[in-house]
Amino acid sequence: MLKASPSEQARLLDLQAIDQKLAQLEHRRRNLPEYAELNDLAQQQQKIRNDLVTAQTDVSDIAREQDKLESDIDQVRQRMGRDQQRLDAGSVSSAKELESLQHEIGSLSKRQRDLEDVELEVMERLEVAESQASALASEQDRLALAVEDAERRRAEAVAAIDKDVEYAQRQRETVVPDVAEELLALYEKLRAQLDGLAVVAIKQRRCDGCRLELSATDLGHVRTADEDEILRCEECRRIQVRTDESGL
Ligand SMILES: [Zn+2]
Repeated sequence: MLKASPSEQARLLDLQAIDQKLAQLEHRRRNLPEYAELNDLAQQQQKIRNDLVTAQTDVSDIAREQDKLESDIDQVRQRMGRDQQRLDAGSVSSAKELESLQHEIGSLSKRQRDLEDVELEVMERLEVAESQASALASEQDRLALAVEDAERRRAEAVAAIDKDVEYAQRQRETVVPDVAEELLALYEKLRAQLDGLAVVAIKQRRCDGCRLELSATDLGHVRTADEDEILRCEECRRIQVRTDESGL
């Protein structure tokens, strides 16, 4: 039967506390809020990237529309210029031809005004699309900075946790030699089976593992047991250590 002095049992409790601390640190490292934050930021970035591509496509589509209009307006202007030159040169003698030329200048002029109206409307649309694209680009810059900031905070948090882990591991190394190999093996085996918690104190007649109050029989056994005896909880099977707070 496995036995351990009260001081060795106390060291086992110390070891359990250190291992609990290490487990907590590991849990905290895995669940840093910065991970969720970065995940959220990445989704926002993806959306902005798509929206920006759409906005930039709009800008170039509208700009192409404007170029086309300008070239149409230019053509109308050139044609009007040529007609006007013919008129001014006085080379057109027939009244009918003169009338048709004047008529054409009239419709070209109307056409020019119409095209210019459309161009004005296109320019307004272009301005709106450009300002949308630029707002999205600013938002993209803002998100990039937010990611940088969250990554920096995450790195700092991880570094702080790593430091605590190192400290706890150094403590662990000083405790382990105080526990006999056989007891240590039992501890590790129970820890694997019992969700990391293998050793608990009896606190005010309660098992600090399953929180159940010791029955009268168990209490009787605990009170009369040899101090070197390694007690096990009848309920949760954890190793129970007697302390000043056990209420025995
Ligand atoms: Zn228990």
